[in-house]
Amino acid sequence: MEKKKCPNCGAEIDAEATRCYVCQKWLSQSFNGVDDRPPEFLATLLFAWFLGCFGVHRFYTGNIPIGVVQFLTLGGCGIWSYIDFILICFNKFKDGKGRLLRDYNSNVGITVFVISLVPLGLICLLIFGIFLAVIIPEIV
Ligand SMILES: [Zn+2]
Repeated sequence: MEKKKCPNCGAEIDAEATRCYVCQKWLSQSFNGVDDRPPEFLATLLFAWFLGCFGVHRFYTGNIPIGVVQFLTLGGCGIWSYIDFILICFNKFKDGKGRLLRDYNSNVGITVFVISLVPLGLICLLIFGIFLAVIIPEIV
């Protein structure tokens, strides 16, 4: 017997089933070929990390107007898109319909967040270094 996953609760159900026996939700939408599930966490996270400056994660999650604004402002100079990225890491990011992302994994979210601090820390260190290089000769 073939199995499939319930798009609502993730339970293993009969591939032929029209209703999930665990969460009791009708699955008719997937039978029409319309995928109305929230966007996937991992894909959104990768879009935000690699293409966040162009608002791609906003387009992907159905937030087209914000996506356009982010595209035009380069993700609010990267700050806005980085805030989005943090929200995604901690499962606070919502799609265009106000839903949380699908298949959230806190281990992945927190790990990727910590990794993202490394380049940020290096940039801060660089700015601090330049700052010192400019300031110290003036004091001495
Ligand atoms: Zn279900």
